[in-house]
Amino acid sequence: MQTVNPPGREQALAYRFAEILSREGIESDVITTPNPNGGKPRAAVWGRLRGQGDRPGLALLSHLDTVPADPSDWSVPPFSGRIAGGYVWGRGALDAKGVAVTHLMTLIELASSNQRLERDLLFIATPDEETGGRNGAGWIVANHPEILEGIGYLLTEGGGIQAAAPDETTHAPIWGVALTEKTPCWLELRAHGRGGHSSAPTGEDAVPRLVAALDKIRRAESPVRVLPEVEQMFAALAPIAPEWDRAAYLNLSGTLERDEGFRRRFLDNPGQNALVRNTISITYLEGGPATNVAPSIARAQLDARLLPGRTCAQFAAAIESLIDDSTIEIEEILSFASRASSADTPLFRAIEAVAVRQDPRGLVVPRLIGGFTDAHWFRETGIVAYGFVPRTLSAEEAEGVHGANERIAVETLTKGIALQIELVRAFDAIEAAEHRKQAEPVE
Ligand SMILES: [Zn+2]
Repeated sequence: MQTVNPPGREQALAYRFAEILSREGIESDVITTPNPNGGKPRAAVWGRLRGQGDRPGLALLSHLDTVPADPSDWSVPPFSGRIAGGYVWGRGALDAKGVAVTHLMTLIELASSNQRLERDLLFIATPDEETGGRNGAGWIVANHPEILEGIGYLLTEGGGIQAAAPDETTHAPIWGVALTEKTPCWLELRAHGRGGHSSAPTGEDAVPRLVAALDKIRRAESPVRVLPEVEQMFAALAPIAPEWDRAAYLNLSGTLERDEGFRRRFLDNPGQNALVRNTISITYLEGGPATNVAPSIARAQLDARLLPGRTCAQFAAAIESLIDDSTIEIEEILSFASRASSADTPLFRAIEAVAVRQDPRGLVVPRLIGGFTDAHWFRETGIVAYGFVPRTLSAEEAEGVHGANERIAVETLTKGIALQIELVRAFDAIEAAEHRKQAEPVE
């Protein structure tokens, strides 16, 4: 089913999921969602498997839309859903229809079991994730809170399992669980100036003004800030880090402060640098229409990614004082708040229990991720939301996310369903046991 966003067209797929859920006797519904661009209707779908107890519910969240696919880059038609060579091929196979199917099968399996859960299990698949979720998950959270009633925990995309490496440097399989995300803060800068012929430049032209401002932004160094989540992430990775870095990983913020050599090495890695700093990419520029025309307006756009805890408005104000030019306007084009979920929860402990059961060396690592998913909409309401899908992808498979030839091994998909079911059961047991223990009278 083609659900490329924009424009989306997720409604038919939402009805397909609802049909399967109700055929299996699971309570479900389709919710029509806003479609500001017109065209085919859009929708979300949910299904709720009622538990026998009233402990806080667990939601399994995925999204129905996908990014576009250009058939000329693919070796199979991207919307064929072909099964060949041990893979399911198609746009969405990983991001995120494969996730939705894993969640759907989990509900179906648990519905047919006679061992009921202590809580409700919610399947929820939303439209519009790929363009920010404002008309999908964000809209559902704001307008249909009843769907999330009683839900305390949520799992969605954003993390997965990294296989154990055969070489000497890493041994353990790593289960990466995203606890939080960097938040996008997209800004537009508009410089104004005297427009006209460019044969006699003045100091008031828009393009040189904008260039001067962008040069200041390019040179600015944002301070290093190690969040507790990142400190935890590196401490968890210490046992498998190269030996000479082990002590540094156990005390990341302290070592970054004291050890100049380690600091340089750490920050030279763009992925690591982005974990401890706000970053800015200058991505879009617009000036005059011809060589001999000085435009009266020049525009640039910045893709800034902020560590949780800083708002886009605060960041824009800092940019404004940095460039110190009152003729340049700054406008926010996209931003949202970012929250972190704690790792000290029964859901995290359940993931650890399943990881160790699968492989005694299994290491569960809390993560901050640089991209963003729909998880933040739910974290903002107080739900503990983790980015974690129990699957191990090969490097070639991982390239298919937003790329050509997106596919998932049939074995990965089926094993992922089994692991997801095991994880739901482990969480149900661990959360209920911890709750009973807390409720016991203290002697
Ligand atoms: Zn996705």
